[in-house]
Amino acid sequence: GEYNQKIDYVFKIVLIGDSAVGKTQLLNRFARNEFFFETKATIGVEFQTRTVVLDRKIVKAQIWDTAGQERYRAVTSAYYRGAVGAMLVYDITKRQTFENMARWLEELRGHADMNIVIMLVGNKSDLGAFRAVSTEDAKEFAEKESLFFLETSALEATNVESAFLTVLTEIYKMV
Ligand code: GDP
Ligand code: MG
Repeated sequence: GEYNQKIDYVFKIVLIGDSAVGKTQLLNRFARNEFFFETKATIGVEFQTRTVVLDRKIVKAQIWDTAGQERYRAVTSAYYRGAVGAMLVYDITKRQTFENMARWLEELRGHADMNIVIMLVGNKSDLGAFRAVSTEDAKEFAEKESLFFLETSALEATNVESAFLTVLTEIYKMV
């Protein structure tokens, strides 16, 4: 029969967290299976998409990326508007980026829908020798705040699929 690529759902997911934690490369990895050591500021597109099949439904993930707006309160409410999922990203080698998660979470909860699915993501797991945030500390924070949690490497493509697919699956359960 005829293959009809009809989109059943579009889910907006926002990436948030400090500058240089790897948000753009996580998105490049998930949307295009690419990785760059240098992220050109001019690449800063608003979002990238990837279509996945969940439970025989065609789901388009529309994933929004901040382009240098990572200063506190610089991300506008338009960025959060309509988001049904969020990835809160820190760098496992930079303690401060993890400490800042509470602030990002507060900002997210102030703007987003009550039922938003949130995944805490500890990126750069390939740099274990320089680890500054233990898996335990992150798990504890995630449990306290009712967040999903995974450590990822956009460079080595570790857990990137899992992180995004978990968020998409959890969103799907609610529609
Ligand atoms: P953003 O500012 O949060 O969007 O961060 P970028 O995606 O631009 O990444 C910042 C820097 O970290 C770049 O040099 C990336 O190549 C690098 N990077 C991103 N993800 C990883 C990772 O998983 N492992 C390693 N080793 N470097 C990464
Ligand atoms: Mg970026």
